[in-house]
This record gives sequence, structure tokens and C-alpha cells, in this order.
Amino acid sequence: MTTKKDISTRILHADRLGGVEHGAVLKPLHIATAYGYATAAELTAVFQGEKSGHVYGRQGNPTTQALEAKLTMMEDGIGTVCFATGMAAICSTMMALLRKGDHVVASRFLFGNTASWFNTLTQLGCDVTLVDATDAANVEAALRPETRLVFVETIANPRTQIADLKAIGDICKAKNIVYIVDSTMTTPDLFQPKSVNATLVVHSLSKAICGHGNALGGSITDTGLFDWSTYPHILPAYKKGAPATWGLLQIRKKGLRDMGATLSSEHGHRIAAGMETLHLRMEQACSNANALAKFLEAQPLVSRVHHASLASHAQHDRAAALFRNFGPLLSFETVDGVDPFDVLDALQIVIKSSHLGDNRTLAIPVARTIFWEMGAEQRKSMDIADSLIRVSVGIEAQADLIADFSQAFSRVAAAHQ
Ligand SMILES: *Cc1c(COP(=O)(O)O)cnc(C)c1O
Repeated sequence: MTTKKDISTRILHADRLGGVEHGAVLKPLHIATAYGYATAAELTAVFQGEKSGHVYGRQGNPTTQALEAKLTMMEDGIGTVCFATGMAAICSTMMALLRKGDHVVASRFLFGNTASWFNTLTQLGCDVTLVDATDAANVEAALRPETRLVFVETIANPRTQIADLKAIGDICKAKNIVYIVDSTMTTPDLFQPKSVNATLVVHSLSKAICGHGNALGGSITDTGLFDWSTYPHILPAYKKGAPATWGLLQIRKKGLRDMGATLSSEHGHRIAAGMETLHLRMEQACSNANALAKFLEAQPLVSRVHHASLASHAQHDRAAALFRNFGPLLSFETVDGVDPFDVLDALQIVIKSSHLGDNRTLAIPVARTIFWEMGAEQRKSMDIADSLIRVSVGIEAQADLIADFSQAFSRVAAAHQ
């Protein structure tokens, strides 16, 4: 391609770049467990990485490989490994890269299961320091000689704090530390972590990238910016070819082949179909979220609204500078005396459910569900109020969505009179 086309155009045509099967306009679904070759020499060459190809489905198949190629394209990276879920991607990658005695610095504002995983990592002999990553100075102050990686999310779920992404990237670059950015909330449609010097980009493919709520998946993309020859734990077997590729090779071999949390090709196929409309869906969902945040801020029964589109958000300017839009996730708190359950139960279109990045608008009372297990103290440190309601805004018609919240507040207000 001479001129670089828009990413939405490139994604729609990407499957045919790697060879067309039977004229198919998209990558077919491959379900074979094993891949055979005409000669023993050919099979051996594939096993030893001398020739590209598949050997056994645990390490990938042509369908997930096509999805990996598209994710690499969207992140402007050098390679991607897909996993069964976002959590599998996060934990397998860290298991592949870390050893006992290593230190990790992570944001204090994390997806709940990622926070729980860091507790497990501590039990395995790694030290984890959680900091307020909205200020890069806190990250810098926590670094030690044995710090191997820094982990942050772009927009934290559910309170929407935005990490000091650029300044943290500059510090990691200066100190040569692996910088992992979970960009699930932003997706490649709003933000490319490579622009802030990320080493590895994490996505839960189960969320907005798929969008339809019908598949689970996760991915790790290497941006190509890190020189893995300087990383102390790359095994000799994976020091092949350009050092930029060593890290991802170890993640595929140790994190995927040995640990086995493989993305099923059927889920990969559905995720790829969803991904084709990512830009269209994000346009509608972000526009709905911006309008709903503004509407909620004007409601007398609402005390605080958290969404980076609002001037009242502590990192509004940062979000506006880094992201194309502010994302489909928002949260809000009800005023004292108003039970968030009453508001939720009065909604008619909005579904009371966990999950996010779905085409349908979903809402959940955070403190008593997804952030229940961690306890009151950790909730307080993450600034999660008891009345916090998280809303993952979908792609419904905007007027219908606002009308649903409007009738819900009217009913709750009437009950309080
Ligand atoms: C959902 C989510 C994950 C985990 O993804 P799964 O596919 O559900 O395992 C990780 N990080 C963030 C920010 C998420 O929202």
C-alpha cells in the first residue's frame, strides 16, 4: 500500500493480505487440533521455527493468527499473542516474564481481578507496589533496582482515573523498564499505547473489541520499542532473530504453549467479526456516554459523576490530549438517603449486569458486587463509594437511553416525597 489507509478500511481487508482461501472474503474458521506436513523434514522445520506454520492448536491456529495480525496492525506493533481471556493474557505474560525476587509497580486503580492477581503474584515471591498512577512521580518513587515492569490501565474501571500515561512511559524508557498498558477501556480506536512508549499492550477482547458479548478473549501486543536483549530473564532458546522479538516469543512459548490458556478459534472468529465495526460502535457508545454523563451531572439525586468528558473530572485535560474520545464507561454516586438499588431497579432498558463494552447498556452497583471481595478498606483506597453505580454505555439510540434514566430518577424522586 502506498498511502496508509484509515485503520477501519485496513481491518476490513486485512484477512486477504495473508493469502486467500477459496476466495473467502474473511478468514475462515479453522478448528483442527493438529497440523500435518508432507515430510518429516518440513514438520521439523516448523517445530524448530525455521519455517512458519502450525503444529498443535494450543499454540495457535490460522483463525487466531489472522486475529493476531489485525490486532498488531491496530496497535502498530510487531506481533500479538492471543489468550482465552484478558485475565489469561495478563497472568500468563507475567508468569512468562517474572521470577521470584522481582518487583512490579502497578496502579492502585485496577480492574478487580487484576488487583486480585497481584495478590497471588506476591504469594509466588514477587513484590508488588501499588501506587496512585495518576501522578508519575508516585511510580518513579516506587522503582527499585529489581523492578522488572510497570503496569497501568488507561482509564481505570470503575472510577475512570486516568494514569499519567506519557510521563510514566518517559520514566520507563529512561530506566529501561518494561511498561505494560492495559488499554481495554480505550481500545485501539481511541488510543495507541505505543504513542506513550508502552512495551506491551493488553486487551480484554471480551469487551468493546468484540462488542457483542458473545466471546471471551485476551491479547498481548509488543510495540517493538523495547530491547529485550537487556531483559535478564529471556531464556537462551528464545534469543533468536532480532532482540525486539524475543519477549513475545517467550510469552508465546512459556505463557501460551506451557500454560495453555488458548483462545478457541470459534471465539477468535466472533471477536474478529465484532472488531470490524469497532469504530462505528465506539462512535455511538462514546457519544451516548458523553451525553449521559452531562445529563447525570444535572440530576439532583446524583452527587458525583465520573467520566473524563466532564470538565469536573480531575484528568479531563489529559484525556482530551491523549484519547480520541472519552470512552463508553462512566460511574456515578447517588446522594445520601437514595439507595442506588432503587435507581437501578427503576431502569427499564438498562440491564443490571456485570461486563462492559457491550452493545447493550449495562449497569452494576459496584461496592456490593465486583468490588465486594476486596473489603471496605481497599475500596476506600480506590475511592469507591458505597453508592457507586457503574454504567457501561451501549449503542442504543441516545434519546431512548436518556429517557430511561430520566423516568427512573422521576420514579425514585416521587417515592421519596
Ligand atoms: C475485563 C477486563 C480484564 C479481564 O478480561 P477478561 O477477558 O474478562 O478476562 C482486564 N482488564 C480490564 C481493564 C478489563 O476491563
